[in-house]
Amino acid sequence: MKAAVMYGVNQPLQIEDVEVDAPGAGEVLVKTSASGVCHSDLHFMEGSYPTRTPIVLGHESAGVVEKVGAGVTNVKPGDRVVVAFVTSCGQCDNCVQGKPYLCNNSASLGRNDRLKLNGEPMAQFANMSAFAEYQLVSKNACVPVPDDVPMEVACLVGCSVMTGVGAVTNTAKIPVGSTVAVIGAGGVGLNAIQGAALAGASRIIAVDLLENKLAAAKEFGATDVVDGSKDDAVQTVQQMTGGGVDFAFEAIGLAKTAEQAFGMVKRGGKAVVVGMIPVTQMVTVPGAAFLGEKGIIGSFYGSTRQTHDMPWLMELYRQGRLKIDELITKRWKLDQINEAYDALKNGEVNRSVIIFD
Ligand SMILES: [Zn+2]
Ligand SMILES: [Zn+2]
Repeated sequence: MKAAVMYGVNQPLQIEDVEVDAPGAGEVLVKTSASGVCHSDLHFMEGSYPTRTPIVLGHESAGVVEKVGAGVTNVKPGDRVVVAFVTSCGQCDNCVQGKPYLCNNSASLGRNDRLKLNGEPMAQFANMSAFAEYQLVSKNACVPVPDDVPMEVACLVGCSVMTGVGAVTNTAKIPVGSTVAVIGAGGVGLNAIQGAALAGASRIIAVDLLENKLAAAKEFGATDVVDGSKDDAVQTVQQMTGGGVDFAFEAIGLAKTAEQAFGMVKRGGKAVVVGMIPVTQMVTVPGAAFLGEKGIIGSFYGSTRQTHDMPWLMELYRQGRLKIDELITKRWKLDQINEAYDALKNGEVNRSVIIFD
């Protein structure tokens, strides 16, 4: 099968012929229909997160079940599925407490050395490696897609929609009427914005440096926008709200913007870090702020319980209550993947999607 292979940091991906194993017990082989071009992969390409190489990246996808291994009963060949990038065991402490997204065994449930390049075994990325024509995944990662939901929409439910909406509804569980700021109006930030609108936030203030992103933020439900390239974002949000918002979501992945999110929340407010902050960066916040019960927490994958959350997200899409088509600014073929990442780096797209034949 064809796959986009990363050989090293800051090197263009190469389209190669890669072999994938047949599904073993509890595994499913999925023929990829669509894969999203997400910023998280870029962190690995640019080296701000370490990875073994060569590797096939990609972690936001939907496809059609091609083959199932022994003991798989939740899906069958021909089923359309979203592939979730966290595989959970269902038995560890976090799983049984309703936090499968923090499964302690997720890494060991991955399938290392089941992809081969020129006969040499390779690592799998995010339990899936979605920049490939086929993906070998866990049965627990498969979430059925309703017939009338397009695959390019379903694939985005697999990361950006789940991560953004879920940060608001699952991780922060914001009360109706909350005031919210969202820093970064890209694929994840726009979903945090529409998640806040769904959850009944009274004000949703989007902060970004680019005019096209702020315009998109308004379409997705932002009530106010702040151009961080012109104004001091923290001060502006403080002034607009008379002392800060209840919740601020960081959707970029930088220590600086996480610190800004903390600065934007009022006494008793919470900053929620959704972006992937590079492993070398430390987040520093003023200690005295804790006397005002200010808090800062992380949000991973929208605290998803995928077989519960992804179906309701797709149902809201079907009803026209969640914008997903509007996220897709551009569609690419797999061999255009480096161009697709250039467009992401330049801020030209909300989200773009690689469509497979
Ligand atoms: Zn992602
Ligand atoms: Zn577990």
